[in-house]
Amino acid sequence: MKKILVTGGAGFIGNHLCRRLISESNYVVCLDNFFTGLRKHIEDLLGNKNFELVEHDIVDEIDIECSQIYNLACPASPPHYQFDSVKTMKTSVLGILNMLELARKYNATILQASTSEVYGNPLVHPQNETYWGNVNPIGIRSCYDEGKRAAETLMMDYHRQYGVDVRIIRIFNTYGPNMDPKDGRVVSNCIMQALNGEDITIYGDGSQTRSFCYVDDLVEGMMRMMNNKNGFIGPVNLGNPSERTVLDLAQKVVELTGTSSKLKFMPLPSDDPVKRKPDISVAKKELGWEPTVDIMDGLKKTIEYFKTV
Ligand code: NAD
Ligand code: UDP
Repeated sequence: MKKILVTGGAGFIGNHLCRRLISESNYVVCLDNFFTGLRKHIEDLLGNKNFELVEHDIVDEIDIECSQIYNLACPASPPHYQFDSVKTMKTSVLGILNMLELARKYNATILQASTSEVYGNPLVHPQNETYWGNVNPIGIRSCYDEGKRAAETLMMDYHRQYGVDVRIIRIFNTYGPNMDPKDGRVVSNCIMQALNGEDITIYGDGSQTRSFCYVDDLVEGMMRMMNNKNGFIGPVNLGNPSERTVLDLAQKVVELTGTSSKLKFMPLPSDDPVKRKPDISVAKKELGWEPTVDIMDGLKKTIEYFKTV
């Protein structure tokens, strides 16, 4: 049985990952400070003999023996990571330093949840892993984008300098059940607004694009990356290449919920990427991975979840 540390394990992606790891007979230590994670998402796991919760802030050192580390601790929604931008940068940079030191001490494999945001407002489309990105270093998204870029740098430096076994994944927009209904992301906002009969907020004219990946597909890709035995350390894009406009997403939510909500156009936040679509040929080749869940099926499951919150 492997002892696996999941930082940010009470968050949206983290709780799905913890469940999947436990279901495959691993012992999971979930580390979280509950900044954006919800206690109710892991409460049912607390009695499980293969699950342990450590309430801790990743910015501070900690000693936990383990053989794998999934580093997910970091707020992911723009309003959340902009709430205390200095803390966001500390979480990414000091957090990964602390986790890399643990990996070094216990010879553990460490996977960093990086992001499509390392490409910023991309000038190459679709984005492949060799593209270095177009990131504003001084804007309102920079605490997140540059924090994640610095974390990738530290991963590679610990690999080259100390031989730590690292894995870097660049996650593109992911959605599914157990998202925080109040996290301010487009999928949760649209669905909650539709279910409550409120106006659906579209920032800008809604022509900006994103590529939405269902969480089960992502977790499968994460685990394939962690466990691959071919020496592939990444970075690798994990996302659904099916690109759509924000307007199209909102219209799908309207159709699936049957809401009478109207669209309400609001100002576009600064530095909001215009286009985003992953090139996943590396993931296909190295991991034999590609998403399988269609947007309509994924949205239906997500809507069913939001009806219960
Ligand atoms: P989330 O906000 O739901 O989860 C993040 C978790 O980290 C929360 O449980 C939070 O309490 C915890 N956390 C935050 N700061 C911490 C700290 N200092 N110490 C300990 N725990 C802390 O976000 P998510 O969508 O589940 O994202 C998980 C990871 O995946 C993040 O690193 C994020 O950057 C990355 N990612 C997510 C997406 C996406 O679309 N969801 C896209 C790209 C990258
Ligand atoms: N967005 C929107 N309405 C909302 C929330 C977000 O139109 O209520 C837009 C946002 O400006 C961005 C896209 O939807 O262009 C995706 O936003 P999200 O916060 O989900 O993710 P990210 O910007 O990090 O890709």
